[in-house]
Amino acid sequence: MSFKDLNLRRPILRAVAEAGYDNPTLVQEKTIPLVLEKNDIIVSAQTGTGKTAAFALPILQLLFDRQDVAKKGKTIKALIVSPTRELALQIEQNFKTYSVYTNLRSTVVYGGTSIEPQKEILKKGVDILIATPGRLLDLHKQDIINLDYVETLVLDEADLMLDMGFIYDVKKIERLCTREKQILLFSATIPYKVEQLANAILTGPKRIEVAKNSSTSTQIRQLLYYVPKRNKIELCLHLLRNTIRGNIIIFRRTKFGVDKLEKTLLKNGYNVDSIHGDKSQTARQEALNNFKKGHINILIATDVAARGIDVTNLDAVINFDLPNIPETYVHRVGRTARAGKSGTAYSLCSADEKNYVKTIQQLISLQLDVMEDHPYPLDPKAKPVIHKSKKTGSKHKKGRKSVASKKKKKRWY
Ligand code: AMP
Repeated sequence: MSFKDLNLRRPILRAVAEAGYDNPTLVQEKTIPLVLEKNDIIVSAQTGTGKTAAFALPILQLLFDRQDVAKKGKTIKALIVSPTRELALQIEQNFKTYSVYTNLRSTVVYGGTSIEPQKEILKKGVDILIATPGRLLDLHKQDIINLDYVETLVLDEADLMLDMGFIYDVKKIERLCTREKQILLFSATIPYKVEQLANAILTGPKRIEVAKNSSTSTQIRQLLYYVPKRNKIELCLHLLRNTIRGNIIIFRRTKFGVDKLEKTLLKNGYNVDSIHGDKSQTARQEALNNFKKGHINILIATDVAARGIDVTNLDAVINFDLPNIPETYVHRVGRTARAGKSGTAYSLCSADEKNYVKTIQQLISLQLDVMEDHPYPLDPKAKPVIHKSKKTGSKHKKGRKSVASKKKKKRWY
C-alpha cells in the first residue's frame, strides 16, 4: 500500500514524502482509514511503529478543509494528551513536519517550564494542541484554554499515563471536552486498567493491534551477564572498554542509580548525560538533543523518562538493572535494531534479579544468551543479599503509611 491509497491530501502527501517515508507502516495502514471515518479506536502499538503519524496524518486531513480561518478565530479542534514532556515535544515536531504545507497551527504545552510564553501562543489561536495533563488543566483553570470545540482527543501512551497516576486528570480532561468527539487511545500494552478507562470513555471502539508487546525483534542479540551486584559498575566499564561501541542507552530503575552511574562514567572519561524525573525540563531536553546530535554517545535513563522517545541509530541497550516488569524489558530492548538495523541488548543480572530473567524469558518466548566469559562471574550458588534492619519488626510501626506521608512521597522515576 502507498500513502496515495490512503486518500490523503496533496500537501500532506508532499510533507510525508519530504520526511522520507516511502510507504505507510502497518499501524498507519490500519489506523488512518478508521480515524478518517471518525471511529473511536484503541491501538496497541509501541514507539517505533510509526504510531504518531498514524494519528497525526488523519487529524491533519480532517482539519484541512477548515484551515484558512484567521489565526484569532482558530479553536482547538484536536487535543493530544501525552504523559511525558519529551514525548509531547516529539509529537509536536511530528505535527509541524506533516503540516508544513498547510495553514494548520499546532503548539505544545507542558510543565516544568515558564507558562507565560505558552499563554501567548494559545491566545493567538491554534487548531491542534499537544499537552501534558497537569499543565493543560492549569491553563484551562486560568481560562486560557477552551476545550469546547475539541473534535478529536488522542490519549497517547495510555498505559504509562495511568502508571504515572494521571487517571483522574485524564478523566477530567475528557469531561472538559464537552462536544461529541472522537477518542483515539494509543497504548504500548493494554492492561486491565487501560481497558477499564477505555470502557468508561470510548464509544464502540475499533481495535488495532500491531506487533504483540511480548515480541522482541529477531535482529537484536540479547545477551545476559550474571554478575554480583557489587561488581555491576566494573562489568559495565569492562563492556564499554572492550565490547560495546556506538550509541548506547543505559537503563536504571531509579533516579539515584542514574546519577551514581553517570558520575562514575564521567570520571572514567565517557561522553555521557542522563535523563530522569528530577532533572529540569531544559536539562532533560539538552541531554536528549546532545544524544540525538551525536555530541554524547551514552545516555543513562530511567524507564519513565525515556519512554516513547524516538532515538534512531541506537547500537546497544544496557539493562544495568533488570526491570521487575517484563514488558519494560521489551520496551527498552525495542529501542535498538529499528528499521531493519541490528543491535545488541546487554542485561546485567545479580542474584536478587534472577526471577526477573525467568519472567522476561517467558514473555518473549526466548532464552537470553548467557555470557560466561567475563571477569566478574556470579557464583551460581550465590543467594540474594538481604539487608536486615537492626531494628526488629517493621519500621512502619502502624503498618500503613499516613495520607500525609503518602502525599510527601517523591517520585522515583
Ligand atoms: P513513532 O512510532 O511515531 O515514534 O515513529 C518512529 C519513527 O518512524 C519516527 O522517527 C518516524 O519519523 C518514523 N516513521 C513514521 N512513519 C514512517 C513511515 N511510513 N516510513 C518510515 N518511517 C516512518
